[in-house]
Amino acid sequence: MKTSIKFKFSIFLAGLLLFTLFILSNLVLKGIKNNQQVQYEQYLEEQVHIANIFFLQSILSESIKVPETFLETKGEEFGKQLELISGQNIVIFNHNGIPVNKKLTKTETAYIQSMLDYALDNKTAYTVKEDILYYFAPLMVEKEQVGAIQFYYSLAENRAFNNYILQLFLYIGGAVFVVSFLLAYVYFRTFAESIVKLLGTVERIGDGHYETSKIIRRDEIGRLSAGINQMSQQIKDTVSSMENEKRKLSLAVNKLSVLDKEQKQFIGNVTHEFKTPLTSIKAYLDLLEMYTDDPDLINTAIVNIKSETIRLYEMVEKVLQLSATEKYEFEYTKERIEIAGLIRSVITPLKGKLDKFGIKLQAELSEAFINADKDSMIIILVNLLDNAIKYNKTQGSIYVKNFIKDSIVIIEITDSGIGIPKDRINKIFEPFYTVDKNRARENGGAGLGLSLAKKLSQVQGGELSVVSTGDEGTTFRVALPIYS
Ligand code: ADP
Repeated sequence: MKTSIKFKFSIFLAGLLLFTLFILSNLVLKGIKNNQQVQYEQYLEEQVHIANIFFLQSILSESIKVPETFLETKGEEFGKQLELISGQNIVIFNHNGIPVNKKLTKTETAYIQSMLDYALDNKTAYTVKEDILYYFAPLMVEKEQVGAIQFYYSLAENRAFNNYILQLFLYIGGAVFVVSFLLAYVYFRTFAESIVKLLGTVERIGDGHYETSKIIRRDEIGRLSAGINQMSQQIKDTVSSMENEKRKLSLAVNKLSVLDKEQKQFIGNVTHEFKTPLTSIKAYLDLLEMYTDDPDLINTAIVNIKSETIRLYEMVEKVLQLSATEKYEFEYTKERIEIAGLIRSVITPLKGKLDKFGIKLQAELSEAFINADKDSMIIILVNLLDNAIKYNKTQGSIYVKNFIKDSIVIIEITDSGIGIPKDRINKIFEPFYTVDKNRARENGGAGLGLSLAKKLSQVQGGELSVVSTGDEGTTFRVALPIYS
C-alpha cells in the first residue's frame, strides 16, 4: 500500500515536534537534577555545620572536655539528639572510623569505607545508592578533627518529583504528537489534494489526453500547475503539428505514387502512340523496297508517310511541351497581353481550315488585359480552336467571346460539334485520352492537346474547363487573372 504524501508530511511534523519535546524534557530534567543537587549539597553542608556547633556546645556543657572521651561515653546520646535536631539518620565515627552511636553491618562498613576514609582525612564525600544519599563530613572541634559524621539523606522526594515531571513530559509528548499529527494532516490535505490532482493531470497527459489542471494557487504548487499547463499545450501543439506533417507526408507519398503511376502510363502511351505511325511508315518503306516501279504505290506512300511524319512531329512537339510544364521551373515569360488582339491573331491563320470544312466562326471580343506567357496562350487557343473545328459538324459554327467577371478574364469557345459524353468530361484532360480513337486518328489527334492546354492554363494561374456539352455542341472556358 502506498503511503500518502499528507500522511508522510504529518507524521514527519509530529515526529519533529516529539523529538524537540524529547530534547527539551531532557534539558529540563537535567536542570532540575542539577538544581536538586545544589540544594541538597547546601542543605547537608549546613547540617554538618550545625552538627559541629552542637558537638562543641555539648562538649562545653559537659564535664568531659576531651572530645575523644566524650564520643566514647556520650556518643550514642549525642547522636540521638543530633538526629532529633536534623531530622536525619546520622552515624558518628571516632577518629579511628569506629561508629559510636550505631552498629553497622559488615556490608555497610565495606560499602562506606572509602568515603569514610575521605571524611577522616578532613574531606567531604558522598554517594547515592537507590534513594539514599550517603554523606560524609569531618567532625570538628574548632579547627581540630575528632571524627566523622554520616548523614543518610533520602532522595525519594526528589526522585518522585523527577518521575512526576518525566510523566508530565510523556503525557504532553503524546498529546503534542497526536494533536500536531491531526493539525498537520488537515493543513497538508489541501497541498496533498493539489499534488494528487497534478499527478492525475500528468498521468493523463502521459496517456495522450493533453488537458490542463485547474489549480489556482499563489505558491510553488500553483506555479507547477501553470508550468504543467504550458507543457501540456506545447506537447499538444507539437503533436498536432507532427500529425499534420505526417498527414502532409502521406498525401505527398500518395501523390508521388499517383504521379509515378501516371508517368508510367504516360510513357506506355507515348510508346504506343509513336509505334502506330512508325509502323505505318515502315510498312510503306518495305513496300517501296519490294515494288520499286509502281507509280501508284509511290504516290500513296508519299502521302501517307508525309501525313504520319507530320502526325509524329506534332506529337513529339506536344509531348515535349507537356513534359516542359512538369519541370520544377517552367520557363515562360509573363507579360501584359491584350487578349482580344491575341485571339484575332490566332483565328486569322485558321481561315483556310474553317473554309475547308464550311465552318463559320463568329467572334465577340472586347479589350481585356492579362498577365501571361504569350506562347503558352497561343498553344491554348490554337488547341481549343483546332478541336472546335475537328469535332464540329459539317457546315457547323464556332462562337468565340471574351468578358471580365470578378477580376477574371474569361474566354469561351463554343462549337456546334458532336459534344462530349458527360462521364468523359474529366477524362478528356488526361494525356492520350480520346473519346473516339478513330475520329481522333482521322483528325491527326493523339489526345494531348487538351491536357497540354489545361496544364498551361494552370501554370499561368488560370483554369481550363468544360462549361457545357451536348448534342448542340461544346463550350470550353479559359479563365485567367486580369492584368493589374
Ligand atoms: P486530340 O488531339 O485527340 O484532339 P485533345 O486532347 O485535344 O486530343 O482532345 C481529347 C479528346 O477530347 C478528343 O479526342 C475528343 O474526343 C474530345 N474533344 C476535345 N475537344 C472536343 C470538342 N470541341 N468537341 C467534342 N469533343 C472534343
